[in-house]
Amino acid sequence: MTSTILVTGGTGYIGSHTTVLLLQAGYRVLILDNFCNSDASVLDRIEHICGIRPDVVEGDIRDAALLESLFAHHPITAIMHFAGLKAVGESTQKPLEYYSANVGGSVCLLQAAQNAGVKTFVFSSSATVYGDPVNLPITETHPRSTTNPYGHTKLVIEDILESLYYSEPEWRIARLRYFNPVGAHPSGLIGEAPQGTPNNLMPYVAQVATGLRPQVQVFGNDYNTPDGTGVRDYIHVMDLAQGHLAALRYCQQQAQTLLTVNLGTGKGFSVLEMIKAFEAASGRPIPYGITPRRPGDIAACWADTTLAAQTLGWTAGLDIRQMCEDAWRWEMRRANQEAAG
Ligand code: NAD
Ligand code: UDP
Repeated sequence: MTSTILVTGGTGYIGSHTTVLLLQAGYRVLILDNFCNSDASVLDRIEHICGIRPDVVEGDIRDAALLESLFAHHPITAIMHFAGLKAVGESTQKPLEYYSANVGGSVCLLQAAQNAGVKTFVFSSSATVYGDPVNLPITETHPRSTTNPYGHTKLVIEDILESLYYSEPEWRIARLRYFNPVGAHPSGLIGEAPQGTPNNLMPYVAQVATGLRPQVQVFGNDYNTPDGTGVRDYIHVMDLAQGHLAALRYCQQQAQTLLTVNLGTGKGFSVLEMIKAFEAASGRPIPYGITPRRPGDIAACWADTTLAAQTLGWTAGLDIRQMCEDAWRWEMRRANQEAAG
């Protein structure tokens, strides 16, 4: 029987792109999602892209009975765990929700997986676990620290996975530390769909390009960076999704593993460079104004990608032009659909 991958949060931004690649690679996909930050229409669009519809169950990763039944009724061989809450600011206002969904949810999922004997697990961690970097590029051995509850949930889940691995070394675990995912599927059919005002730079820039918002607020131009604005390692979501397939295959080939690896491009771009790149991709002016720094922001952050290349044979291939062009195609499609009602 074809191997089934349980994809939690598979209708979300990164999960949906990874689902497309999993289906195209011949895996069966079972999505578990409670749709708290997505909607079921993405399933039609995934089917449109791949010609295959993933199986989906609406439910919460904290529902132990549901998980038990999923493992009992599907030939699940591995889990890709994307489900969780991800807004840094909100996590400071609702810490219990974040600890419950992210930490509690991961524990519940891991317990069910352990009971079912499914011990291949790919986890969405984040470069946020590096805190304010003391040196660049950031290697996986960089000390970890966090400044907000969201980041702390990632750190705790990383530690839980490590404890689990040391208690039962037959686990095959990948902890993937994403840098800044942007862009969309080149079809323009799936992409990031933030609810309300976007927290992240690129969805905000895209909404200024469509005219939905008047201007980008650039959070500080007095950082110690070439143009004074914050520098990040933006990675195309399709590259990130490919990184997940590489990590899954790597885990499947090991008898046991606890892999911790950066998924980034190794290059940093400033806020102003990203605005310029989006102007070029969209052909639209993107007005911006400088505002004070956003509390908690770091100056600069980009990945050392050596370990990912060595262990996974994976490197990110898409540049910021492609990130912006694909994000723009997706944003235009969304804007047109909304205009059509
Ligand atoms: P997303 O919000 O688009 O997707 C998450 C999905 O999980 C959504 O479909 C949501 O409905 C679902 N979900 C949330 N809580 C759930 C629960 N309790 N039970 C079942 N489903 C639930 O987010 P994303 O950008 O695709 O991020 C995926 C993962 O990657 C998250 O764990 C996030 O923390 C991590 N991550 C994201 C970024 C980023 O910038 N997007 C960066 C680093 C790490
Ligand atoms: N940023 C900005 N205006 C915005 C959103 C973000 O200037 O409306 C800046 C932010 O200060 C940082 C960069 O853009 O330097 C990326 O921010 P994002 O929130 O996308 O990612 P993160 O800070 O979590 O890496």
